[in-house]
Amino acid sequence: PKLPAYHRVAAAVHSVGKVPLGIKRKGLRIVVTGGAGFVGSHLVDRLIARGDSVIVVDNFFTGRKENVMHHFGNPRFELIRHDVVEPLLLEVDQIYHLACPASPVHYKICRLLREIGVLNCVYKTNVVGTLNMLGLAKRVGARFLLTSTSEVYGDPLQHPQKETYWGNVNPIGVRSCYDEGKRTAETLTMDYHRGAGVEVRIARIFNTYGPRMCLDDGRVVSNFVAQALRKEPLTVYGDGKQTRSFQYVSDLVEGLIRLMEGEHVGPFNLGNPGEFTMLELAKVVQETIDPEARIEYRPNTEDDPHKRKPDIGRAKELLGWEPKVDLHKGLPLMVSDFRLRIFGDHKEGAT
Ligand code: NAD
Ligand code: UDP
Ligand code: UDP
Repeated sequence: PKLPAYHRVAAAVHSVGKVPLGIKRKGLRIVVTGGAGFVGSHLVDRLIARGDSVIVVDNFFTGRKENVMHHFGNPRFELIRHDVVEPLLLEVDQIYHLACPASPVHYKICRLLREIGVLNCVYKTNVVGTLNMLGLAKRVGARFLLTSTSEVYGDPLQHPQKETYWGNVNPIGVRSCYDEGKRTAETLTMDYHRGAGVEVRIARIFNTYGPRMCLDDGRVVSNFVAQALRKEPLTVYGDGKQTRSFQYVSDLVEGLIRLMEGEHVGPFNLGNPGEFTMLELAKVVQETIDPEARIEYRPNTEDDPHKRKPDIGRAKELLGWEPKVDLHKGLPLMVSDFRLRIFGDHKEGAT
C-alpha cells in the first residue's frame, strides 16, 4: 500500500540522510520513549555519555522534566512532549521503547481518567503506542527494544521464572491492563520481527529501584523509603510474606544496552535474583534509614503475585550480563536522592 504523503516525504529525507555527504555523523541517533521517567532517564545519561544523539519522547504522565534537565542545552539531546498513542515521524537508528505507566497506583488513576472520558492509558499505551513505535522502526529500518516486564509471568506457578515459562495471568483482572498489555506488546514485537523483518529485542524487567523513582508512585521500595524518611509507618500489604527480587537501576541499564547491541532477540529476564519477602525488605529499610520505623499492615491488592525471582541464566550466557549491586549497596544510593527531594537541602532530614 502507498504510504501517506507525510510518510513518503520523511522516507525520502531519511534516505538522503543515508548518503554520505562528507560529514561523518558521530554516534547513533536514538529515541528513548518514556525517557523522562525513572529507568529512561538513567538510560539517557549512559547514551549521552557515550556520545550518541538522544531524542526523548515523553508525555510526562509519570515522568518529570527534572530527570533530564541536566541535558538541556546539549546539542545531542532533544526532548519532545508527545503521547506515543499518536503517530510519530522521526529518523533514527535505534528505539528504546519504555513509555508506559508502571505502577499499580497508575492503573487506578487511569481508571479514574476513563470515568471522565480519557481512554488513553495503560492498555492503549502498550498496544497502540507499541504499534506506532514498531511502525516507525519498520519505516526507517531502526532496531527496536521493548521493555516488557516480569508481570507477563503473572502469579507464577514456576519458580524461579525462566523465559520459557508462559505465565499465569488473569486476563480480566485489575492488573491486566498492564500485564496483558505487555504480553500484547511482546506479540506485536515478534509479529513485526517475523512479518516485516524489523530487528527487535525484548527485555523482561524485574522490580527495579533507584534514584529518580517517583516519590509517590505506590511501588514498595519507593513507599518504604519515603515513609521511613517522613517518620511514617511502613505499609506492609497482606502478611508481608510475598517475595520480590530487587534490581538496582544501573544494572538494568547495563543489561538493556547489552541487549540492544547484541545479536539476540530474547526475551531476556533482566533482574537481580536476590529474593526478599516484603517484611525482609522493611527490615533492610529500617536498618538503612531508621531502626525505630514502625510497620503497619494493610490489606493486599487484588491478584498480587505471591513470589517472583528471575532465572537469569540466559542473559548471563548470551549477553555476558549479571547484576553487580545488591540491595544493601543500592538502597543507600536511593535514600540520598529521596532525602534531598523530600527535605531539600534543609538540615531536618539529614540524620
Ligand atoms: P516511569 O513511570 O518512571 O516511566 C515511564 C515513562 O513513560 C514516564 O516518563 C511517563 O511519563 C512515560 N509515558 C507513559 N505513558 C506515555 C505515553 N502514552 N506516551 C509517552 N510517554 C508516556 O516507569 P519506569 O519504572 O521508568 O518504567 C519504564 C519501563 O520499564 C516501563 O515500560 C515499565 O513497564 C518497564 N518496567 C519497569 C519496572 C520497574 O520496576 N521499574 C519493572 C518492569 C518493567
Ligand atoms: N507509524 C508512526 N511513525 C512512522 C511509521 C508508522 O507512528 O514513522 C505508525 C502508523 O501511523 C501506524 C503504525 O505506526 O499506525 C503501524 O504502522 P505500519 O506501517 O506498520 O502499519 P499500517 O500503517 O500499514 O497499518
Ligand atoms: N507492597 C507493600 N507495601 C506497599 C506497596 C507494595 O507491601 O506500600 C507490596 C505489594 O503488595 C507487592 C509488593 O510489595 O506484593 C511489590 O509491589 P510493587 O507495586 O512495588 O511491585 P509489583 O507488584 O508490580 O511487583
